[in-house]
Amino acid sequence: MTNTDTTSAPAGTVLPPFTGTDRVCAKCRYLEAFTRYRPPLSDRTREEFNGSMRRGPLPERLERTCARCDFAWDEALPVDDHADGGLSVDHLVHALDNSTPYPVELDPALLAHMATKLLEMVVALPVRDHPVWQPEEEPPPAVAPQDPDTLATPEA
Ligand SMILES: [Zn+2]
Repeated sequence: MTNTDTTSAPAGTVLPPFTGTDRVCAKCRYLEAFTRYRPPLSDRTREEFNGSMRRGPLPERLERTCARCDFAWDEALPVDDHADGGLSVDHLVHALDNSTPYPVELDPALLAHMATKLLEMVVALPVRDHPVWQPEEEPPPAVAPQDPDTLATPEA
């Protein structure tokens, strides 16, 4: 087997992030993958991987294996609340900041505290098509300064 696999991690590189349930097999395009924890692999240790032997060093990781073709690839451990695509504190702050019934500046520390506490209670998944998750449009070119109190606020 030649090493044309671009989804495994060569030694010393950062692993790709955990993709939760959204990952598609790079070889057969199947949508389901098993997940198995793998401890760190030292440079003196070898292991079987996709039909050949490989050597560390590799950090601890999650080995994903396609449920149809058994192709395997490595992903990093989920970063706290990123598991299975759950929102991070920063993303939940963004959602909370866009959830007020009227335009109001909320204290960023208050938002971060609320988001942190909420994520201790729930796993929040984004509705990916919602406008709040779309890239913000570039602001229009600058025009003559205006009094901020007289500016109209567009409805979201
Ligand atoms: Zn596959």
